[in-house]
Amino acid sequence: MLIGFVGLGNMGAAIAANLVRAGHEVTVWNRSAIKAQPLTEAGAVLARSPREAAAGREVVITMLADDAALDAVLEGDDGILAGLAAGALHISMSTIAVATAERLTREHEKRQQHLLCAPVFGRPEAAAAAKLFILAAGDPADVARAGPIFAAVGQRVFPIGTTPAAAALVKLCGNFMILSAIEAMAEAMTLAEKGGVPKSLLLEVLTGSLFNAPVYLNYGKILVAEQFKPAGFTAPLGLKDMRLAGQSAEHLRVPMPLLNVLRDHLLQTIAVEGEDVDWSGIGLSIAKNAGL
Ligand code: NAP
Repeated sequence: MLIGFVGLGNMGAAIAANLVRAGHEVTVWNRSAIKAQPLTEAGAVLARSPREAAAGREVVITMLADDAALDAVLEGDDGILAGLAAGALHISMSTIAVATAERLTREHEKRQQHLLCAPVFGRPEAAAAAKLFILAAGDPADVARAGPIFAAVGQRVFPIGTTPAAAALVKLCGNFMILSAIEAMAEAMTLAEKGGVPKSLLLEVLTGSLFNAPVYLNYGKILVAEQFKPAGFTAPLGLKDMRLAGQSAEHLRVPMPLLNVLRDHLLQTIAVEGEDVDWSGIGLSIAKNAGL
């Protein structure tokens, strides 16, 4: 397929590389052009603007940090909205606000362009291994059309219905649950360690018995090894997701007291450890709060 790809960060670079490897004709654009170099060396073509990455393509994929970054590549004379042909498809894979997904839906509809919201679960290692879980919402015909793309980058597609914003909501729910699991594990590990039990032993017992799920296995290892830099998913991006989940919670009148604890621990961790710490670095704050 003729694919435009905009946003070559930790996730986007790995996803775009898999599309090139699968034999698609990929045109890439990134704000910092240097990150496109490994892709162009692998056979991708460099576009001079997001508009150029979208023009003449059947599909344009965006994988950007946040809502503001998405707006920056969509709007204006050089933006994707101006370049994408009527009938062509935008697959938005970033984790964005529900309200932004709703606005995006309207903007594309006005131009007879198609939209799928397809955020993903899986860190950069999973993206590199084409093992992402994809949450795809939009017209089922577009989900089918995106099939070869999803097959090249993910291990399973979950259809989330015909309203693109629903996928954004499911993704935010999932990230809230991941960080809740990290919080619970880090608190339990701190308790065990202060009481003289190694956290590695606690993890072995819990993941070998009741907590045998990828989120505990993967993040448990990171917490035990205290591998918080370089980040796979930065704490500021995690903070963004908790903020977006909070916006939906406020809009829908859903009290989420745990969300506030997670948000504060992320803030504390960023303030002390820096902007480049992984979101699981909340484990450091939790341990320090206990005097460890
Ligand atoms: P990242 O490494 O920080 O990359 C962010 C990308 O957004 C870069 O290409 C960056 O360009 C671009 N960008 C930021 N601000 C921009 C602006 N104002 N204008 C144009 N481009 C801009 O982030 P990531 O980890 O790949 O995450 C990307 C998305 O996937 C996020 O929505 C994140 O929540 C989601 N996600 C991440 C993970 C994970 O484990 N990392 C997992 C699932 C989902 P530059 O290179 O020029 O900075």
